[in-house]
Amino acid sequence: MSDCLFCKIVSGAIPSKKVYEDETSYAFSDIHPQAPTHVLLVPRKHIASLDHADAADTALLGELMATATKLAATLGLGKGYRVVINTGADGGQTVDHLHLHLLGGRAMSWPPG
Ligand code: AMP
Ligand code: ZN
Repeated sequence: MSDCLFCKIVSGAIPSKKVYEDETSYAFSDIHPQAPTHVLLVPRKHIASLDHADAADTALLGELMATATKLAATLGLGKGYRVVINTGADGGQTVDHLHLHLLGGRAMSWPPG
């Protein structure tokens, strides 16, 4: 997707602070962090949202979850963390490329805003 912000970050066309990458995913620091640790984990494949993932993406979704837990350990979030996937307008999604927010380094409250 040539007009997608996160596709451009994955390709390197737009700079980012890389945290991790492998064959299927790329992780980088959120530009407006909401916690001491705030990392975005995105699939290299353009999927507009969780709602746009289909059955063929099931393994990819599982891999992203597994990568998030590995990243949490690597980043020292042993006390806990939160993984968020904002989806659609009411979900608060602002960038239309599936991404997991990995938040940690402070106690989280509930319910979310
Ligand atoms: P969401 O609102 O769930 O779609 O999350 C989009 C996230 O992308 C927000 O937390 C933004 O702060 C973050 N963001 C937007 N532009 C950039 C960028 N160029 N580099 C890093 N993070 C970004
Ligand atoms: Zn994209």
